[in-house]
Amino acid sequence: MRPPEFFHHCPRCGQRLPTPPSDNVLQCAHCGFRLFFNPTVAVAVIIQRADGRVLLIRRAKDPARGRWAPPGGFIDIGETAEHAAVREIREEVGLELAELTFLCSQPNDYPFADVTYPVLDLFFEAHVTQDQTNADDEEVTSLEWIDPDSVLAEDLAFPSMQAAWRIWAGS
Ligand SMILES: [Zn+2]
Repeated sequence: MRPPEFFHHCPRCGQRLPTPPSDNVLQCAHCGFRLFFNPTVAVAVIIQRADGRVLLIRRAKDPARGRWAPPGGFIDIGETAEHAAVREIREEVGLELAELTFLCSQPNDYPFADVTYPVLDLFFEAHVTQDQTNADDEEVTSLEWIDPDSVLAEDLAFPSMQAAWRIWAGS
């Protein structure tokens, strides 16, 4: 279920809502309270090293456990997308990114613990000169520098990643 579907009462006055909120806003007819629902924002980075190979991780957790993905994660409140990308890549794979180029944004659904979160994924691309990685075992089962020509978009974990990969690869 999406987050709005869990609201049966107004969070301010407690009045029962006649119907669950629409996708975007909870409106209480009793007290006039309005609560907006927006996508969660995430970042992912397609990282390429000097020989052209790209870093993909195998996801250690659901959703999409065991599937390939470019590394990334969720943006914290108050954080820029660029800062989140650098921080997530440092935490997840131990690489320091010196430059980032925005690639595209793609909507995604992220099912976690009985809630399906609407997400907006922001994709960046980056190049690195040193490729020494240090995977976070909690998040990453394995990682690999892969020849991008050997990767099919369908191999990636989420439709948003597949769409971004097609744009990045120009196919
Ligand atoms: Zn109310």
